[in-house]
Amino acid sequence: MERAGYGAIMSPLFEEIGVFLRLGDSTEIVTKEMYDFRDKGDNHIALRPELTASVVRAYVQHRPPTPWKVWYEGPQFRYERPQAGRYRQFSQVGIEALGTDDPMIDAEVISLASSFYADLGLRQVRLLLNSLGDPTCRPIYVEALREWFQSHLSDLSEQSQHTLLANPLRVLDSKREQDQQLIDDAPVMADYLTAETAEHFAGVRSGLDRLGIAYEISPRLVRGLDYYTRTTFEFASDALGTAQNAVGGGGRYDQLASELGGPDTPGIGFALGVDRILLACDAEASFEPPDSRVSVFVIDVTGGVEALALCNRLQSAAIGADRAYDARSMKAQMRAADRSGARFAAIVGEDEIANGVITLRDLRGDTGQAAIPTNEIINEIEKRLL
Ligand code: AMP
Repeated sequence: MERAGYGAIMSPLFEEIGVFLRLGDSTEIVTKEMYDFRDKGDNHIALRPELTASVVRAYVQHRPPTPWKVWYEGPQFRYERPQAGRYRQFSQVGIEALGTDDPMIDAEVISLASSFYADLGLRQVRLLLNSLGDPTCRPIYVEALREWFQSHLSDLSEQSQHTLLANPLRVLDSKREQDQQLIDDAPVMADYLTAETAEHFAGVRSGLDRLGIAYEISPRLVRGLDYYTRTTFEFASDALGTAQNAVGGGGRYDQLASELGGPDTPGIGFALGVDRILLACDAEASFEPPDSRVSVFVIDVTGGVEALALCNRLQSAAIGADRAYDARSMKAQMRAADRSGARFAAIVGEDEIANGVITLRDLRGDTGQAAIPTNEIINEIEKRLL
């Protein structure tokens, strides 16, 4: 992300609730998923359920020059029903780009998300793409959708009948078996796009085509938050169970800055779900966890202060080093060294100190054991780790 010119932004964990209430009254996040409370100053506060609104709030408040491109990572909080891959505190990595609606930035943003998965070795992640229309065509489509579901109301699940009253678009999100046929036959946004929005969407697709990024057009993809317009996308992992297979998503939110009291500023971004990505990495066995956090385990049979000093030297030279505590016996320390998974044990005893050496033992048995002059220990370990 930084190679593409995105700077890090660290947003607060909580905001005045109004920042998130503007997301639209019908979003589930607002109606039932927010952790909110009154603080000692009687301010109505919410733990952030997502970061786009916070970032746009920061934009409106500080007005940085555009295009403003930022990335973030950190915990989000939603009062959801906890289950595999769905937690009340979860972590996201994301980016936002404000100040241009050039379709090439849509393609850039999507490609950055896509390479995030690829770089982790994930192969079973699919990109789903849709356009949600703009403020001209979207309301017409929403009306058509409302009419469609209204005319088949008795076939709709009770839950979706409630959703329909609040927001017909969200009915498309229903996973209930009973609703699927009606959803499949419902009107699609693509047939309602204005010429301008259709052209923008074609631009995004041509950018993705040029980058060789595969995608599926998914006309039912509406996403959870109401502020999305035009380009929307989601990444689904086929390695995860179908219920929680979304490993990230995002889209355009061209009205959000003005809704938060700022100047008209188009924006686009994504948020990737770190917890689910890790589940997908496990499911695909995309990489092995490292054997050990450290390369060297220091064994000190002179009381412990030599281990402190040697660990410190090694760590300063960017070599991971750990040790045992409480002046344990040599045997106990050797056991701890084996358990640590470190490649080498570096042994400091009375003899070693007297001779100005450190005994370096290869714990994987490859190169045996050698007495290394104390001032050469760093070089020697670096050489052997190559
Ligand atoms: P959203 O902010 O709803 O667009 O979510 C973006 C991504 O965050 C999703 O695709 C998930 O990977 C992840 N995510 C959302 N909610 C949760 C949750 N409750 N627990 C774990 N991951 C989540």
